[in-house]
Amino acid sequence: MFKILNETFRTGIVTTGYPAAAADIAAGFRGLPRIDFPAWRDARPAAEVCPTDAISAVDLGGVRDVTVDYGLCVFCGLCAEATPEGAIQITPEFELAVEHRQELILSAHYGLNEDGSHRDLISVRPGAAAVEPAAERAGRKLKEQISATLGRSLAIREVDAGSCNGCELEIHALNNPIYDIERFGVHFVASPRHADMLLVTGPVTRNMEVALKKTYLATPEPRLVVAVGACGISGGIFGRNYASLGGADQVVPVDVYIPGCPPRPQALLQGILMAIGRMKQALHLST
Ligand code: SF4
Repeated sequence: MFKILNETFRTGIVTTGYPAAAADIAAGFRGLPRIDFPAWRDARPAAEVCPTDAISAVDLGGVRDVTVDYGLCVFCGLCAEATPEGAIQITPEFELAVEHRQELILSAHYGLNEDGSHRDLISVRPGAAAVEPAAERAGRKLKEQISATLGRSLAIREVDAGSCNGCELEIHALNNPIYDIERFGVHFVASPRHADMLLVTGPVTRNMEVALKKTYLATPEPRLVVAVGACGISGGIFGRNYASLGGADQVVPVDVYIPGCPPRPQALLQGILMAIGRMKQALHLST
């Protein structure tokens, strides 16, 4: 017993300062693949290697339409490796949560040379929120938002709709001494009837469709739904098939999307903060 206490005191406080302080990101962490559209010479190699078809290139009449969907991206980095001119850089950016699915989709149009490489960039449509790091970083902000909005703590029910459990590992980490989400007044509950928010992971398997709908209906209003990870957003690597319906928004309305495969705990925290902003709107509208 004395040995354990001694060890505890020697370890000291391990809880991260995020979001008040910048997140401590390990070297080699793969976050958002940032694309320099004007410098991109050819989108085809990246589209060919992308395992989830997050990058697509369609040629028509000497023009190439390129689409990049961060809601499908699993941050594997293969596109950057296949782009020797360096137009795709894997960055450590992880604060990528957005309120609208469309904000995760970028598109560009290129005129083509005879060999199929890009001659010129005709237009580009960035999904602004997806590529901007989150502005809100104040440490007490989350707690203030929760108490101002709910007058108490925030209760989350996690719903695994068919996940590989990668996202669950990161969600569990929110409760460990390092991320300690309870310091912000956020806790997980066992029943949707006690929840303010559903965190949905995984592509929605057909076996979980009814369960997810019932869980949603059992959650009191104004309820929030947060789709977690590439699978929760779009079906990810599984997409839509005989066993999978795709992302959570195919079954229930989604308020916030958190990209990643899986999203790291700080990214989850940022998405939850954003979702609480949505709840504030909903409460305001209903009064
Ligand atoms: S990092 Fe994303 S966009 Fe690039 S190849 Fe992997 S899944 Fe596709």
